[in-house]
Amino acid sequence: MDYELFLRELDLRLETYFKIHKDFICCKEGCSFCCEKGDYPLSEIELKYMMNGYIALENQIKTSVQKNIKNMEQGGICPFLINKRCSIYPYRPIICRVHGLAYLCGEKTVKVPYCINENKNYAGVYRNGEININPIKENLDTPQILKDFDFGEIRNLYNWLNHSPGFSRTDS
Ligand code: SF4
Ligand code: SF4
Repeated sequence: MDYELFLRELDLRLETYFKIHKDFICCKEGCSFCCEKGDYPLSEIELKYMMNGYIALENQIKTSVQKNIKNMEQGGICPFLINKRCSIYPYRPIICRVHGLAYLCGEKTVKVPYCINENKNYAGVYRNGEININPIKENLDTPQILKDFDFGEIRNLYNWLNHSPGFSRTDS
């Protein structure tokens, strides 16, 4: 399947999920907490697609991203976050698309966004490590979402940017 077509379908599905849980979600433009601290694991296919977004950026923004990549720390701010907004939003990886939702990722295991501890998504329905509403009943982990693709290796963004010859700290 074509990756862009697949993303369009995924986005529609996720839009429905965010609507179903709208009462527990407080994501809004300018809230960038989830882009400021994380590992951002993503696969090769997603990295290549992100590169398309990077290449399409204005030179000034590209320079800012490059500067961020040089200063990037493991587990720290995503270098594509510019002025509290994702500079490659339509090209962002799966983890960024699904982040914010509470979903079932095993028979009984529920994954929740970590901003739950910052009084954000689902905080009002979270007690003693559990949410007391029904989670989204789809496993939104990246390997599951991409199961029909030959998605390649999965690495953290920091590792990709430091060890990928096609997308290194010296690219411009
Ligand atoms: S997932 Fe959490 S931190 Fe990220 S935009 Fe939504 S509310 Fe903000
Ligand atoms: S790619 Fe965009 S949405 Fe994902 S962490 Fe980076 S800035 Fe945030």
